[in-house]
This record gives sequence, structure tokens and C-alpha cells, in this order.
Amino acid sequence: MDFPDCCSLCGQPSTRRVKVSSTREIGGESIFVKIMLGFFRVPFFSAIAGRGFGQRQAVTIHLPQCKSCSRTEGKISPKYIDFGRGTMTFVVHEIFAKRVRDSLRRTK
Ligand SMILES: [Zn+2]
Repeated sequence: MDFPDCCSLCGQPSTRRVKVSSTREIGGESIFVKIMLGFFRVPFFSAIAGRGFGQRQAVTIHLPQCKSCSRTEGKISPKYIDFGRGTMTFVVHEIFAKRVRDSLRRTK
């Protein structure tokens, strides 16, 4: 899936993508891409992008992050990783969360 062209941290327009990935050793699983949204006090965004590679599972997504956030915030890292469900949860900007929700609604 593709994300909106706006920074996931500050909500400013940005086409820049950063790779966020985690791996673990497991049995092969089918390829799936799924997305979930949930809200706590700050917008949370979970992306599921699991890929079965025999004994190795890689969960990789490309999140938009503008240059200035890269400088100030550094690498984006997930808040939580749930390999059982193949999910990574990120705290993202409200504007980004809204645009993801909107684009999911359009593709339905
Ligand atoms: Zn930014």
C-alpha cells in the first residue's frame, strides 16, 4: 500500500520515504498487507506488512518523513511490534492519520 505524501511526524507535505523494518525467525507465512488505525491520546497508526521468507519474517514499511523531521527526530521506530499479528504501531501526526483514513475509505 502507499501512504499519502505528507510527513508522518509533522503532517507537512513530503514525498520522502524512510524504511522501517523488523525481522524475526519464524515459519513461512503468507504475504499480506493490512492497515489498522486506532486512537489513544495521540493518533496511533499500525501497519501490517508481513512477508514470509521461510524461516525469516520481515515486517517492512516505508513511512513518509520529511527532511527536517529526520534531522530533529532521527529514525522512525515503532512504538510496539507484535510479530504474532505482524503489526507495528507508530505514533503519527493527526493530519497524516486523517489522510491515511481518507485514502483507505476511497479504495474501499
Ligand atoms: Zn516532518
